Amino acid sequence: METSIHCQLHQEYQVQYIFLNQNNIKFGCIECISDLQDENHNANIFKNIFLLHDIQSSPQKLLTQISNIDDQNLQFYSCLHKKTETIIMQTFQNWENNMRNFQKKIDNIILQQKEFVEQLLINYKNTIKQLQQEIKFEEFQNLIKEFGTANEKLQNDVLEQISHKITQHFESLDKNNAKELNESLKRIKQEYINQAENLNQPDIQELQTSFQQLIKSTNDLYSQMGKSFNYITQMNSSLIPNSYSKYLLGLIKNKLNQDIKQIKLLYLGSRDGLNGQSLWNKIDGKKHLIYIFKSKNPGNNIFGSYISCKVNQDLNNWQSDESLSSFIFSYTHNEIYPLKQSQKQHAILCQPISYAVWIGMSGNIGICNDFINGQSYLGSSYEWDKFENQRSSHLFGGDSPNIEECEVYELQI
Ligand SMILES: [Zn+2]
Repeated sequence: METSIHCQLHQEYQVQYIFLNQNNIKFGCIECISDLQDENHNANIFKNIFLLHDIQSSPQKLLTQISNIDDQNLQFYSCLHKKTETIIMQTFQNWENNMRNFQKKIDNIILQQKEFVEQLLINYKNTIKQLQQEIKFEEFQNLIKEFGTANEKLQNDVLEQISHKITQHFESLDKNNAKELNESLKRIKQEYINQAENLNQPDIQELQTSFQQLIKSTNDLYSQMGKSFNYITQMNSSLIPNSYSKYLLGLIKNKLNQDIKQIKLLYLGSRDGLNGQSLWNKIDGKKHLIYIFKSKNPGNNIFGSYISCKVNQDLNNWQSDESLSSFIFSYTHNEIYPLKQSQKQHAILCQPISYAVWIGMSGNIGICNDFINGQSYLGSSYEWDKFENQRSSHLFGGDSPNIEECEVYELQI
């Protein structure tokens, strides 16, 4: 869409812009724009002016000129950006560099570890060799050989001589209470230990830092892909696989009968502090929250909840879920426990002074501010077919939650 047509008003400049005003389509140059800027301080006038070069790579911009275009369509297409390719390739490049860097570090650690093991082996073999010298092992070995040949021929007198020589061999090593030998052995032992201690054991600390970077840059890549390509990526949870997060999001979409526009990690226990106050600081005033917990109890149970109503730390009371879309889930047991209709007023208790998380009457998921204590009365407010009107260890894998990690995501609907 490049032109070499000169502007009618400013002959020295080429046409670069199209002015799309209804019933009055005009072409213009940079000087025309400059004139307009001088005359108008109202930015609205530029709304219908398009750089010809620009609309070539972003034809979606022309949709604004069609008066009956559906708003949702317009929103979707205007999010697609002409810089998408550059941005996404940069982010991908960055991710690839981090990956390759990690790979190099692993290769390097393997080499170092191999060298370390080889050095230890050399030291070990050296020491055995020195020991052999000190106890005159070769002489001893020769006596054994001699004994073997003599034995075959059953020469009793020779056998007696050899036995005597062997006894003498040990006696000579033992002379002066083995003072000399003990000193030598001590010296060799000390050399062996010094050698081993002076070798550098490879450090894997750096590998951990690289691995953290890798996770971060993978998250950056996924979130950039979501933004650039205008679609919802998965949660990238470190606790549940993406396939399960897709399943949860599908359930929520069905229950709400609405699209999820964006997913945001609001709170991460290991990053923000695994305590009630840190959690509430991050989630106060938010709605459509997905909580995911991992327990330290045997079995490392993973469970959580989707709470659709707003959580409010000043409420000091129950928050009800009129939509009845909230539910508890157990990833470990692959089960969903929906909020009971008769219990919709007990969706979640907003009482930060007592509890970090208190979902359903008596705490179907009940977690104290220390994330260690609490209880699970699963089934009282959220439907569980094995509910026996008492606490259970079904969700936690133990009597108390004993939480190791917690993630909270906010869905933008
Ligand atoms: Zn012009």
